[in-house]
Amino acid sequence: MARFLKPAPVAVEKVMRSLAQAITGLELPAVEKISEEQAEEPFQILIATILSARTQDATTHAASTRLFRRARTPATMAALRVKEIERLIYPVSFYRNKARHVKACCRMLLDRFGGHVPSTMEELVMLPGVGRKTANLVMILGFKSLRNICVDTHVHRISNRLGWVKTELPVETEQALYKATDSRWWPYINLYLVTWGQHVCRPIGPRCGDCVIADVCPKIGVRRRSAT
Ligand code: SF4
Repeated sequence: MARFLKPAPVAVEKVMRSLAQAITGLELPAVEKISEEQAEEPFQILIATILSARTQDATTHAASTRLFRRARTPATMAALRVKEIERLIYPVSFYRNKARHVKACCRMLLDRFGGHVPSTMEELVMLPGVGRKTANLVMILGFKSLRNICVDTHVHRISNRLGWVKTELPVETEQALYKATDSRWWPYINLYLVTWGQHVCRPIGPRCGDCVIADVCPKIGVRRRSAT
């Protein structure tokens, strides 16, 4: 069962401030990069986030770039055949399902939302292929929301290792993090923890010896650390 632990405010503050500095200069996660490149346009953020599920960042970035070169709006993307979307986004994982979702999502944007990405969680999760993770990231990056936390596998894993939450599933972690952390950090949790998770606090063999927050991290559940 999910439980949240209220970490001492100073621990959250210390972790977030340390990571803000430490990630400077590191490669950004793919959707953050696309968000910068596409001037924080909600439609591009939405589509890139759908493509990013269980896919390496470099692959997501390349596939999104190919797709946006061919179609940049819900109308032009909805007009593509599923086979063509498949060809453009391959080799993202589950590219056949994602191609169907992309087309259906664009269709719904046109039919139900006037060709615009809706700006509420309730509406975003109605879109095909859109769950809470994607909807939260669109709210944060596309609509500059300060009230959402986007939880992916990196955020879920590191929040548990830090002892901020004690949860089994990312969806539980999101709710637990709202209680365990101060709201001013919510829009930054995804960027900081995902970047750290890709470079240092890796799923297998985290580099605790190189970690700037090692002194405040209880390393919960970490069995084997990497030497480098
Ligand atoms: S000390 Fe280790 S477990 Fe804790 S955040 Fe750093 S890399 Fe991850």
